[in-house]
Amino acid sequence: MAVYRILTYEDPLLRQRAKEITKITPNIHKLLKNMAETMYEAKGVGLAAPQIGVLKRAIVIDVGDGLIQLINPVIVSAEGEETDFEGCLSIPGVTGEVTRAARVVVRGLNPSGKEVEYHGEGLLARAFQHEIDHLDGILFIDRAKNIRRKK
Ligand code: ZN
Repeated sequence: MAVYRILTYEDPLLRQRAKEITKITPNIHKLLKNMAETMYEAKGVGLAAPQIGVLKRAIVIDVGDGLIQLINPVIVSAEGEETDFEGCLSIPGVTGEVTRAARVVVRGLNPSGKEVEYHGEGLLARAFQHEIDHLDGILFIDRAKNIRRKK
């Protein structure tokens, strides 16, 4: 078990574009496993590899329906609009309202290298968009209104 330190917003690494994963090696499996452990330990619902200092396109999400581990995730369709409060493990104690697509279809590779597709709505749709933003160096505060400190 390995829990990584989560980088915080002032780290320039969080502003870079992560690279596609071209080969799924044992190291990628280890990365995904450790990312999941780090996310659970931090009590988050999602984590992207750049948040632990790895500039690769990998995300983990668990909104309460089980663990999703995705390599090279891409949003292939997005519908509707929904505004809700959001937070980020890299910006502790801060929350803000972000308008995002209400429903998304996301495609990527699972840890076995098989192409998988997820249809997400509500919190899951939001988590996909938030985590995929991280892979492009975008933080939720870039999109948020009414940013405030949590008490
Ligand atoms: Zn985040």
